[in-house]
Amino acid sequence: MSRPDTRWVNGASPKRILVTGGAGFLGSHLCEQLLSEGHEVLCVDSYITGRRSNIAHLMDHPHFDTLRHDVINPLYVEVDEIYNLACSASPMHYRADPVQTTKTCVLGSINMLGLAKRLKAKVLQASTSEVYGDPVVHPQTESYWGNVNPIGPRSCYDEGKRCAETLFFDYHRRHNVEIKVIRIFNTYGPRMHPNDGRVVSNFIVQALTGQPITIFGDGSQTRSFCYVDDLIRGMIRLMNTPADLTGPINVGNPNEFTMNQLATLVLEMTGSRSQIIRMPLPEDDPVQRRPDITLAGRTLDWAPTIELAEGLQRTIDYFDGLLSAPPEMFAY
Ligand code: NAD
Ligand code: UDP
Ligand code: UDP
Repeated sequence: MSRPDTRWVNGASPKRILVTGGAGFLGSHLCEQLLSEGHEVLCVDSYITGRRSNIAHLMDHPHFDTLRHDVINPLYVEVDEIYNLACSASPMHYRADPVQTTKTCVLGSINMLGLAKRLKAKVLQASTSEVYGDPVVHPQTESYWGNVNPIGPRSCYDEGKRCAETLFFDYHRRHNVEIKVIRIFNTYGPRMHPNDGRVVSNFIVQALTGQPITIFGDGSQTRSFCYVDDLIRGMIRLMNTPADLTGPINVGNPNEFTMNQLATLVLEMTGSRSQIIRMPLPEDDPVQRRPDITLAGRTLDWAPTIELAEGLQRTIDYFDGLLSAPPEMFAY
């Protein structure tokens, strides 16, 4: 008698899944969740902002493989599904090498779409709320076309991700590639790098180490923060929808906070005595951002469950542990 395949869970058969950017913050959580659902996972990453330590706990898993590779180059592997997450996501990093950022968004998407076309595989694009730019429609619905500066320092990311969406829809219309496009709003949680540069990790690390809390501008600009577990649940749910559901679909937590409110909350929760200092607002920094998640609710039966205080506590605990770990844990 043959042994039951223990990888079969929830009645679904195991798939071979490629995760680009799998050693990054979101990618490492996605790899972990897909493995726990019984799938085979190939993590492809150039390690530009990702870290081996993010996936170290998965290395011995019998269904996990890794490949160091830059997605701007062609990739020939055999898989059933592709999650395309490869791209630096923090403004500090994507602005540092803007041409590489555009290449990653555009050439990386072409290669992943070419791969999906050859394999007749499903492919999901990790798009972003940045496609709305500095939005004049608030909250942002998927039908809003955005307000994006094409020539500013953020454009490599915003326009790169917009071009990636265009490519996804053109491969879908022209070559029948099955696509899913998720527009991710600011997501935070454990495994963000301490030097990632995004606001949640900056404020927590600054508070825990007694450094000044750096508020850019007057701190009245808003963001809506989603905890990583909620986001990953929504992303996998979108991938598993019927073929006619392509998106784009907003996934994020609609509770909106100013950066002043975030700083106050982090100071309270950490009990830190860090001072608040003001720094210049980066060029083209969006004034407000909040997702309308009606479509995700209706089509994915998805809503976030983890509120900011709870998610921040988990993230504070993570950084507390990390900051007492050996410095090589932080190495990129
Ligand atoms: P991250 O920087 O932690 O992860 C990105 C990963 O992609 C890293 O491991 C990096 O090494 C890898 N990478 C970058 N360029 C690559 C290339 N050319 N080839 C191969 N690997 C490459 O960022 P994250 O927050 O985990 O973001 C993951 C994805 O989700 C990105 O595409 C980002 O644009 C998107 N996203 C994230 C957020 C968020 O709030 N976290 C919001 C919107 C969209
Ligand atoms: N590609 C890839 N892996 C594959 C198939 C294609 O990386 O398995 C890349 C290849 O570099 C190609 C790109 O995807 O340039 C786009 O593929 P497509 O078939 O659309 O274009 P073409 O090969 O006709 O240029
Ligand atoms: N920000 C800040 N202090 C920091 C880092 C960021 O006040 O140390 C602000 C930033 O100007 C922006 C908001 O926090 O208004 C969110 O920035 P982040 O880089 O996290 O994400 P994004 O701008 O891409 O939404």
